[in-house]
Amino acid sequence: MGNDIIHPYKNVMTYTKHYKYNQLKDYLKKKHALSKLEISTVKKHIDTCDTCWDTWNRVRWDQAKYKDGFQDLKNYLGDKFELYHDSSWALADEWYDKKPNSEIEVSNFYKTTKEYVYNSLIFFESEDRKDFTPNYELFKKKYGIKTIVDYGCGIGNDGLSMLKAGFDVYFVDFDCPSTDFLKWRLKEKNFDNKKRVFDVESNDFPIVDMVWTIDALEHMTNPFDIFRAISDKTRLFVYFIDDDDQAGGRHPFHIPFDHSDFRKKLINLGFSGEDHEYLSVWVRPSSKV
Ligand SMILES: [Zn+2]
Repeated sequence: MGNDIIHPYKNVMTYTKHYKYNQLKDYLKKKHALSKLEISTVKKHIDTCDTCWDTWNRVRWDQAKYKDGFQDLKNYLGDKFELYHDSSWALADEWYDKKPNSEIEVSNFYKTTKEYVYNSLIFFESEDRKDFTPNYELFKKKYGIKTIVDYGCGIGNDGLSMLKAGFDVYFVDFDCPSTDFLKWRLKEKNFDNKKRVFDVESNDFPIVDMVWTIDALEHMTNPFDIFRAISDKTRLFVYFIDDDDQAGGRHPFHIPFDHSDFRKKLINLGFSGEDHEYLSVWVRPSSKV
């Protein structure tokens, strides 16, 4: 493939003024308190400007540098560890090169890509990803949650944080480079006292109080597959989808998601929606599980 081929999502623009390192650092710190318009203004520029994307990549890495997760990845990869690796572009390039289309091709992409190990780690540890820990008290006190499945867990960012907060957590995803890293992390942190990581394709994870699915449904060719997993497994279902594409980077792998049919199906299964500022929280009080 020639180098001059322009990818469909590489709409590289020419800007006369670029963001400075400290401006993007400040943006990352304040991002979650900004309006959608303010976020999309910055995002539009950095996603289409190679210069500012490089700065942004560096800013995120530098913010992640002092976190445990960063050290985990460094120790796990050893000599192969690449500081400042731009996994966001690499992931989009890999997707574009492979052009997965069928359900099997999409599954195979997730089963084999190594880029998500970096990508999920930097997104989470740089705090570009929203912090969901303030909800843990709500889950404990209001809903009496003790056991959790982190569905579509990837490298286990949330599930590990939940384990540290005292929840009993199981992890579900493809058997892939991300879950290989997760298994290593669980062992390192002495959470390997029992089988915690389950292959999403086997659907044999334990019954739990809550199934937690963050930034995962929009990656599934059929997000309705989740119902096979939750219909008899849980009484609380919590999910989050990056609807407004606020995460930064290119996401050719995000599949449009039909919310109204999804909600109807949840209601048919006996769930009812709870009020929450940004999470989709569904309870099933009559559930025997
Ligand atoms: Zn720029």
